Parts: sequence; C-alpha cells; structure tokens
Amino acid sequence: MRIGFFGGVREIGGNIILMESNGVGIVFDFGRRFPTSQVFFNDTIKGRPEKGFEDYVELGELPPFRGFYKNELSEEKSLPIEIGGLFFSHAHLDHIGQICYLSDSLKKYMTKGSFATLSYFVEKGIVECMPSNIEIVDGKTVQIGDFKITPYFIDHDVPGAVAYFVETPKGLVIYTGDIYFKGVKSELSNKFVEYAKSLRPYILITEGTRIGWNGIVSNTEPELKEQIKEVASVFKGLIIGNVYEIHLTRIQTFFNAASELGKKFIIHEDYASTLLKYGEFETIASEILNAPNTFVYAPFESKLNIPKEKFVTKDELVSNQVNEILLLNFSHIPELIDIKPIEGSAYIMSGGEPLSSVDPLNTKILENWLSKFNLPLFRIHSPGHASETEILWMAKEINPEILLPIHTQIPERFKVVHANVQVLEKGILTEF
Ligand SMILES: [Zn+2]
Ligand SMILES: [Zn+2]
Repeated sequence: MRIGFFGGVREIGGNIILMESNGVGIVFDFGRRFPTSQVFFNDTIKGRPEKGFEDYVELGELPPFRGFYKNELSEEKSLPIEIGGLFFSHAHLDHIGQICYLSDSLKKYMTKGSFATLSYFVEKGIVECMPSNIEIVDGKTVQIGDFKITPYFIDHDVPGAVAYFVETPKGLVIYTGDIYFKGVKSELSNKFVEYAKSLRPYILITEGTRIGWNGIVSNTEPELKEQIKEVASVFKGLIIGNVYEIHLTRIQTFFNAASELGKKFIIHEDYASTLLKYGEFETIASEILNAPNTFVYAPFESKLNIPKEKFVTKDELVSNQVNEILLLNFSHIPELIDIKPIEGSAYIMSGGEPLSSVDPLNTKILENWLSKFNLPLFRIHSPGHASETEILWMAKEINPEILLPIHTQIPERFKVVHANVQVLEKGILTEF
C-alpha cells in the first residue's frame, strides 16, 4: 500500500492525499491553496488556455492522476493508478475548491453538510460548476479496491466535517481532516480520539494547522458571546458582525448575543441562504432563522424561500440601528454607503473574510472601509482548529504506529509526542 501527499505539504490547506493498493487509488480532499501559498499561479497568472489544466500538472500544482480530470491526461504525464473515488473531509475551499477540474465519471463522496456548503458556493459563483456524481456518505462504509472507507463526524467550523477511517491491506489508516476541540460539538472530536485510540491504528494522517501559531488559547463560543455583549454595552449604535456565512456555530453565537441583549438579529440574505440549507439537517439553523427577533436584509428582491414578513427594508434597518445586530459579510461591505452607521457603531471581525494573515490586500480594503465610516474594529474570534497542545495531545493519545502530519507548516513538531513521525515530500508515493 502506498500513500502520497500532493497538496498540504508544509502549508496550511490545499490538501490532496492519495492512497493506492494494487493499482487502485482513493483520494482525500482536493483543495485550493490559500493566496499566500501560491507558487506559480494566481488570479492573474493562470495556466495557458490551450493547455487547460495540464500546465498545473506539469508544475506539480495538480496531481498526475488518471481517470480523474474532465480532460484525460496523456499516459506519459500520469501515474499508472486507477482512481476509484474522491472523499471530502469537509467543504472549506482549501479541501474542496478544485472540484470543478474533476471528471464527471469520478465518484465524489461527501456528507450532507458538505453538500449544502458546496451548493451555497456554487450559487454564489465561488465554485464555478455544480459537480456531478456526488454520493452522500453519511452513515455509510464504501468499498473501493482494497480499501474500506468510513466517515466519522468531528467538530470543525463548518457543518458536516468528518474524519475518515480507512481499512487497508496493511491495517487501519485514519485521516483527521480539520479538527477542533473547543466548539459546541467538541464532544464529537473527543469521542473520535477515544475511538481511534481503541482501534490501535497503523497510520494517523493528522492536521497541524495551529502548530507554530504561538498560542494555545481557544475561546469557547459562550466566551465569544460575552465579548460581543461587552462591545455592545459600550457601543450603543449599530453592531455589525462579520462571520463566514458557512460558520453556523458562530452565527448562532451572534444570534445568542442579540437575543440576550434584546436586539433584533438582522442577517444579510447570504446568511439566510446558508441557514436555509443547513436547516435541512441541523435544527439550530432553522431555529435561528425562524426566531421572532431574526430578520433578513436583502438589498434587492430576494429569491429565497422565506416569508415576506421576515425581511426588513433598508429604511427599517437604517432607522433602528440602536436595537440591532447586523451580520454583513465582507463582499457586501459597500452596503455601508446606504446604511450610514450612526455614531457609536462598531464592527466585529469574527472569522469572516478576509482572513488577515492570508489575505493582506483585502484586509487593507476592509480597514479603509471601516476608517471611512468611523467604525472601530474588534476581533472576537477563535479559529476552528485544535490548538498546538491539543493536536499534539491527540496524536499522543491515538498513538498510531506511524504518524503522517499534513496541513501544517511544521510537521516535525509532532516528534515531541511521537517516535515515528514521517514527513512526506510533495508528490512522492511512499510504501507503507
Ligand atoms: Zn483546512
Ligand atoms: Zn477546514
């Protein structure tokens, strides 16, 4: 059995993992690189149109897999491995963002939660196609070649995140996906560790996002809620929150803060769109949307299937700012021109875009808008990843025979807690 990493090597995000046995392969995640990790291509420099995606394969930005892409790779450019299916751990763009390159005939496995997020991205044009051949994997075990793959729900800052347990001819391989231990569903992550440990796995492929971030503190959602309320206790104007639309838990935290403050919770329709989608399997999403103090702000006539009385007009929003918390994502920040936040308003960054460390240009644009409208900026956030100490604790607890770090800038750090850490080089298949 061989394993290779084709993305996520010494970088956060862009995960692409291949497992192969007897000529048949399975792939886990197929993510985009964050802008700060881009090497040869970005929004300006793309592959040559006449070459399609082959330029990306040529330079190692995409893996040389056969039976994988919309346009088949030539034999001399590809590995002699038949790819039987692609499994997504969750629907963040650094795990799912390159899905439109994939062949229609390739089976794509994901949870209901990931599918809902993907549908949102497609609607917004963030993902440029609606991929076909998607199979919902909740509660299932899938057999492909010598592999038996089972998803396991864990906590992360997007609904429907899973780890995968893979039975292979050599033993059990577990892939954590992205994992969190301080969220509202951290019980799932703790159970995952206990269960994984009990199975004495051969290999653990673990994320390590926060290694090297120089901090171990993660605020819990109730702590963040109190911080939002603290801002609102001093700033009596409009409180504007910027949350990632797919971060259901954080939307819930702002909703709870608004409710406890006796304020209206007004959400831009992008948030209403994700709440509608998540409401099909997460009751909390429907509860937030249907709550008597929740209203939707749609600058233009909305196509969403929401009763008319749930919408606020621009005039209502503008005239009642002292009684409102508004969720407004970055892409709609020009709405400030009409809203004209009153004196004493404040802006809370809470995990929405732009992510400051990986998107400095947009962070500057955001700061300019806030300065123009005299909005003080508060960062009230906790990342959806295990802290450095938590992830090292997890690796020690599960104690696999072999530990393979991915999605981290410092894979060697795991040697502190494990005697057999192997650091894979990008694009190299290793026999296990
Ligand atoms: Zn990630
Ligand atoms: Zn993630």
